[in-house]
Parts: sequence; C-alpha cells; structure tokens
Amino acid sequence: MSNSFEIINRIRLILDNVNEKDRISIHEPCFLNSNAKKYVNECIETGWVSSSGDWVLKFEKLISDFTGSKYVIAVSNGTDALRLSLYLAGVKPNDEVIMPPLTFVATANAVAHLGASPHFVDIEPQSLGISPNALQKRLDEVSIIKNGQVFNRFSGNRIAAVVPVHVFGLPSKIEEIKSICLNWNLPLIEDAAEALGSRVNKLDKKIHCGCFGEISTLSFNGNKIITTGGGGAILTNNELHAKRAKHLSSTAKISHPWRFYHDQIGWNDRLPNINAALGSSQIEKLEEKIIQKRILHSKYKNIFEDLKELEIISESKNTESNYWLVTLRLLCKNPEKIREKILQDAHESKIFIRPSWDLLNQLPMYKKSPSGELKEAINQSNRLINLPSSPQLIKNI
Ligand SMILES: *Cc1c(COP(=O)(O)O)cnc(C)c1O
Repeated sequence: MSNSFEIINRIRLILDNVNEKDRISIHEPCFLNSNAKKYVNECIETGWVSSSGDWVLKFEKLISDFTGSKYVIAVSNGTDALRLSLYLAGVKPNDEVIMPPLTFVATANAVAHLGASPHFVDIEPQSLGISPNALQKRLDEVSIIKNGQVFNRFSGNRIAAVVPVHVFGLPSKIEEIKSICLNWNLPLIEDAAEALGSRVNKLDKKIHCGCFGEISTLSFNGNKIITTGGGGAILTNNELHAKRAKHLSSTAKISHPWRFYHDQIGWNDRLPNINAALGSSQIEKLEEKIIQKRILHSKYKNIFEDLKELEIISESKNTESNYWLVTLRLLCKNPEKIREKILQDAHESKIFIRPSWDLLNQLPMYKKSPSGELKEAINQSNRLINLPSSPQLIKNI
C-alpha cells in the first residue's frame, strides 16, 4: 500500500487554488462572481427577509426549470423535505420504510420523526446506492400482501415506501429500483439531497435525479453543491402532492387577507425569502460548478491512475454524476487500519478528508431496526474516503 503521504501529496498537487498552510475541507460554499450580495441586499433593503416574498417563487421556478420537475416546493431543509414527502406518501406510525444503510442520518431520522422505522437493504458497489437485487430478494423474503398493501411478515408492520439515495451525487440504479416499486405498488421517494445536477441518460433524453420518484427531495445545506444557507425542496409531478406540500409546510393556513384560519395540523417548514434569494444566485452558477466538479473528478482520477490499490469512484454507465463529493475507494484487504492512518496524516496536514458515514444500522437508535443482509454496505463503508471536492479548489476553466 502506498504511503499515506504519497496520497496526501497527490491531493495537494491537483488543487491549484490552495497554499501549503490553508485548511482544506471536503466541501465549502462559494459566492464568488455571483449575484449573492445583490439579491440578499434587496431582501434587507425591502424588509422581505422572512416567510413571504417573491424570491421563494422565483427560486422554485429556477429549480423546476433546472430539474424538469413540474412542481417544486422550497422548504427549510432537506430533512424536513423528506419528512413531509414521507407524510404525503402516506407513511404512518409503526410503518417501515426501506432505505440503504450508507446514507446521511437524516434519511432515517425523517422516517423516525413520523413514528415509523427504517428498514435497511444492502447496496451495490458501483453506485453505492440500494442494490436492486438485494431489494427484490428482501421483499420476496419478508413480504406478505394484505388488502393490496405490503407487510413485513416478521414484524407485522406495513412496508410503506422505498427511499433510494443518490450517494455523493452518483445516480443509483433508479430505473431498476423504480420497476420493483411499481411491481410491489410501493411509493418511491428519492433522497436526491446530494444529486442536484446528476442525471440518467435514457435514449436521447437526460432525466434529472429526483424525477423518477413519486416525490423527491433536495437539500441546500451549506455543504451541498449549492446552498441557501440552509434549505431544501420537494420535487413532484403530482399536483395534489404539490398542493398539499405547500399547504402543510406553511402551517395549513387558508389564504385570507386577515383571518388566521388553519384547517389541519401543519408545519412551519417554509424557506425564508432571504434564503431563496441567496439560492437563486447560486442556481445561476450551478452549471458552471458542475463542469468544474467534473474536471476536478477527472484530475483526481488521472493522478491516482497508476496506484493499483485504490480507485476514484466514477459514475455508472448511462449516468452523469454532479460529483458532489469525489470518493476514493481502497481496494486492499482489511482497509480499516490503512484508512485510519491516511485520515490521521491528512488531518495533521490540514486536509480534512472524511470516511463515509458510519452505517445507520450501527447507530444506537437504529440498531434494532429491521434489516436484510448488509454485506456490501459493511464492505464498502470500511474503504471509502471523501476527498476535497469544492469546485473553487481548482482554476476556473
Ligand atoms: C444533506 C442530506 C440530507 C439532509 O439535508 P439537510 O438540509 O441537512 O437537512 C438528507 N439526506 C442526505 C443523503 C443528505 O446528504
């Protein structure tokens, strides 16, 4: 195995815009050469900084145009977007929601916030997303159908939805997953938090991640490909879901010039106008960021090409990744100790690279959640390292 300093030096070599002493993070926001200040200032000057204002509608339209999703509802963060989407899809207390264990904790938390439980199925190594085979196998193993609904025969609970995640921006095997969901009549909700700008090529069309599910979600947290400071969005082509999402995310208030009349228990999940203004300035830079990130990915790929014991993960055939986080995979046996050493040495030289998340099924609150065999997730989770991936780390093309 190459020495960890060789890996660190190679990382430094391709990052044009950093000096020896700079701290290098995994992903940082960038507002350079953008309308960020102009748009945010407009909110401050007019006083429209909070939950009403024109920027929210403008921002939703920009996301809709970019992704091709018919309806977009901006909300306060990606976790709330997921929770609301699951609620709209009919997830109720004691239900189970199928998801991969290799994802950010929010995917499971959103399910738990509704009193339901995650149900983990294994991933496949190429996209790091749900394995269609593992999904099919797990459903065959545990399901019984009662009144047209899928139940887990071991727990007795209803399986209410499937939530694939496009991990690090790599489109997962979404069409195969979708066809399994259709066969079982299970709602598909895509967690596309990391995949704004990732697409699947189908014949001569490019379909954006988040346009396969009945409902999908994005995040605009500070570390994502574009940010609103904090924020998220729900994508759907279903008008009823869109209307309910808007209504429930804005306290279920019936529009009226002076009355405060609410017809249900709603949430305050609105994205403030000032955040939508910032987000609108970010979308204007999104295509440029994706180009830069794809160049950054190919630079990493080239510089590590000759090392046999590791690889830079690339998009699967017929997909385009936004390469939100470029990811290195160690190919050796028993990679745990080697990875720990690389992380330690990198952190000492102020390159704050990260391992992929601890698997959710190993966290205390999800240890007892139902789960299929997770061989591949366990295998992969020990050998992944996310590399510095901010597009501004390399020279502008
Ligand atoms: C970031 C993220 C979320 C949650 O988004 P927040 O805006 O941070 O609440 C959910 N799922 C995945 C996969 C994420 O990466």
